[in-house]
Amino acid sequence: MTSTITTYLCIGCPLGCRLEVEEEDAQIVAVRGFSCKRGEEYALQEHTDPRRMVTTTVAITNGRWARLPVKTTAAVPKEHERAVYAALRSVVMRAPIRLGDVVVGNIRGLGVDVVATRDMSEGDGV
Ligand code: SF4
Repeated sequence: MTSTITTYLCIGCPLGCRLEVEEEDAQIVAVRGFSCKRGEEYALQEHTDPRRMVTTTVAITNGRWARLPVKTTAAVPKEHERAVYAALRSVVMRAPIRLGDVVVGNIRGLGVDVVATRDMSEGDGV
């Protein structure tokens, strides 16, 4: 029987509980270290299907500023995180943009949109 313990730092609140997921023969047999249900769920999620929100900026023309802040509408699988950032590097929007406007729909087929996180009016910037 092979037993492993993987540790995670819960980011659910400033307490920062140290979480442990114990496996025996690749089956989860225990989750420890959490102080609330949220921490237990985070440990299981992080261990079985880690996901990350993507927040970044994309280029924009005709706007007041040269970059438009954007984010995903939900966390994406961690193994796709870099590809999402890479895909957004080639995006160029055009002002005006409204908060919540879809910048890229269903990015990389992940079922998640990327949306603007602020208004961007037309301007004499770039
Ligand atoms: S387990 Fe609960 S109390 Fe501990 S850091 Fe996570 S959210 Fe906070």
